Amino acid sequence: QQKAIATPKRTKEILDKYGFSFKKSLGQNFIIDVNILKNMMQVAGITKDVHTIEIGPGIGALTEQLAVHSDSVLAFEIDQRLLPILEDTLQEYSNIEVINQDILKADVKKICQDKWQNQKEIKVVANLPYYITTPILMQLLLAKLPISSITVMIQKEVAERMAAVSNTKEYGSLSIAIQYYTKAKIGMIVPKTVFMPQPRVDSSVLHLEMREEPPVSVINEDFFFTFVQACFQQRRKTLRNNVSRHFKESMTKEAIEQVLVDCHIDGTRRAEALVMEEFAMLANRFYQCMQ
Ligand code: SAM
Repeated sequence: QQKAIATPKRTKEILDKYGFSFKKSLGQNFIIDVNILKNMMQVAGITKDVHTIEIGPGIGALTEQLAVHSDSVLAFEIDQRLLPILEDTLQEYSNIEVINQDILKADVKKICQDKWQNQKEIKVVANLPYYITTPILMQLLLAKLPISSITVMIQKEVAERMAAVSNTKEYGSLSIAIQYYTKAKIGMIVPKTVFMPQPRVDSSVLHLEMREEPPVSVINEDFFFTFVQACFQQRRKTLRNNVSRHFKESMTKEAIEQVLVDCHIDGTRRAEALVMEEFAMLANRFYQCMQ
């Protein structure tokens, strides 16, 4: 095996050879430290019994590690200029397929099924473009893909919000949305110095283990997620205040109060003190009142 791509020297050589200029608008910050990538393999639990999907291979730093440690790699890259570069940098691996598509537009489910016919566990591993972290993750979670986990390098603050538990300032509707579908945990914190060019913020590796079933039973998921967002609309106000604002067109004050009483939830609490079971109970009760 030749020298790893993820070193400052090799990355510079590759960029110079092709006269490549970074596109900030595509979130292009490439990893230049191979140890970080090896740790990512550990956090993700990558073995030869696993197929992997990568989003945004860049010049192939992570792709190469996935090729070495997993059975095979499917990588989606939006920037056409990177295709000939990847062909060159990854030429010694025969288990990588690069698809020149926007991940938000690709039919990932069909592509996976056609390629792998569900023979092995599939995991997503990526150093995500930060400008669309949340849309990419939500789309992957909603697409009901046959994947067992997602391990991504993302902005540290966003990872903290996604993995947050109740009664912390990071906890919010994003925590609930992510944890409804997955068990979330932060694998490691990554300083901005291991990227080229250096971003302004530090990163974290977030590991999301897909749940077989949601942890709470919800009658209507759209209603539930909209309700949770409404509860956090003004974080410092009480639950009663946020809920009343949300339902003011559709329910009387008394009816709203009755739901809180029925669910044994004190309206003076703040949304950040509620756990997912409590949001689910309230949302289900309000949903029933609307029918
Ligand atoms: N994996 C490489 C690494 O770790 O060094 C590059 C990571 S860089 C943070 C993000 C990559 O995602 C870039 O290569 C960028 O071109 C690509 N990208 C940006 N938006 C994308 C999209 N919508 N679909 C697929 N790839 C995208």
